[in-house]
Amino acid sequence: MPDPQSDAVQLGWDPEDGLDALKVPLFQTSTFVFESSEAAERLFSIVYGGEKPGSGEEVGFIYTRMDHPNLVITERRLAAWDGAESALLFSSGTAAIFTTFLTHLRPGDLILHGAPLYGGTNTMLQKVLGPLGFEIGSFGPEASQEEIEDMIDGRRLGAVYLETPANPSNDVFDIDLASRVARAASTPEHRPLTIVDNTFLGPYAQRPLDHGADLAVYSATKFFGGHDDLVAGVVTGPLQLIDPMKTMRYRIGTTGDPHTAWLLGRSLETYPLRVERQTANARVVSDFLEGHPKVERVRYLGAIDDDDRVAELAKRQWSSAGSMICFDVSGGKAGAFAFLDALRLVANATSLGGTRSIACHPWTTTHSNVDVETRRSIGITDSMIRLSVGVETPEDIIADLDQALARV
Ligand SMILES: *Cc1c(COP(=O)(O)O)cnc(C)c1O
Repeated sequence: MPDPQSDAVQLGWDPEDGLDALKVPLFQTSTFVFESSEAAERLFSIVYGGEKPGSGEEVGFIYTRMDHPNLVITERRLAAWDGAESALLFSSGTAAIFTTFLTHLRPGDLILHGAPLYGGTNTMLQKVLGPLGFEIGSFGPEASQEEIEDMIDGRRLGAVYLETPANPSNDVFDIDLASRVARAASTPEHRPLTIVDNTFLGPYAQRPLDHGADLAVYSATKFFGGHDDLVAGVVTGPLQLIDPMKTMRYRIGTTGDPHTAWLLGRSLETYPLRVERQTANARVVSDFLEGHPKVERVRYLGAIDDDDRVAELAKRQWSSAGSMICFDVSGGKAGAFAFLDALRLVANATSLGGTRSIACHPWTTTHSNVDVETRRSIGITDSMIRLSVGVETPEDIIADLDQALARV
């Protein structure tokens, strides 16, 4: 098997299928012409009726909400990156996460999640899945297997859901520990899932399926897309879990569209190049921040000491530190605002993982939906800045941060 990087520039496309075009064409169409009515009947008996295609039988496309060529090509490349049997592309990371819960869990099930989480996911759990009848519980990064298991309290565990590293604080969770909780709660009739949101590190640095996760979910809007010009989501995992999600996806219409799938397939070709550059930049930026008198605390995965609680996990679970940095500036919210408003090269915006460096104030933006008590308890502060380091020249990023910190 070629390396994912070699796969990512050619997998899934044969020039003979499209007028010898070297690159993947954009199949911007909502529907596909049937060879014959009989062929259409056969197609629907497979897609709707669940009949198995014969060996060598080609299953054509029907309608773009169900499946389309750009989707299939990009999904093969995504699966290769995660070392997964299969991958699915969605209209957003949020759609990917929601479709995962809707497919594999049912109301009454308990979702135990690590905290913090991306603000939008937290809101989905509290404001949508909770009212639909799902039970929701959360645990912090230091919780032991026993402490997490105690939270089940006789209920049917549907999933252990982790974001590691977590947005925005870079807190890390042990995927293997979470999967042990899920396995211990299994019965012959029911197997809880371990689901990991791997948006922050991505498969270049961390492959959750290798550490016991059943499914990995991504906001492809971030590092996979990488240019802040698309919104998409991804789930990777074994066919047995992905297949029913594909059915759910067309039933509720959370499918990724052709143009986005095409853009994403193209972006994947440079995914590791961008990440390598961003990671190298982040290391230099983190060192600069560590030494700055107006910076109070820097949390970066590349700056974990040997005596840190998570030093062992750092060796076991990821191979590269990524480019997300979280730090506090002095002067609380006013200090954070003064800093952000003075930035010139680095954009003051939400989102992350793109070529351009972006900083934001989670307390008043991405995590303002999370109630204040929860924010405090999970370590989000009003002086916290989340920085996504881009591909610019590191000296220029540092010069911009330096002049902005001077305004704090
Ligand atoms: C952005 C983000 C999401 C949501 O993804 P969208 O593409 O914006 O729907 C989920 N998880 C994490 C960690 C994120 O950063």
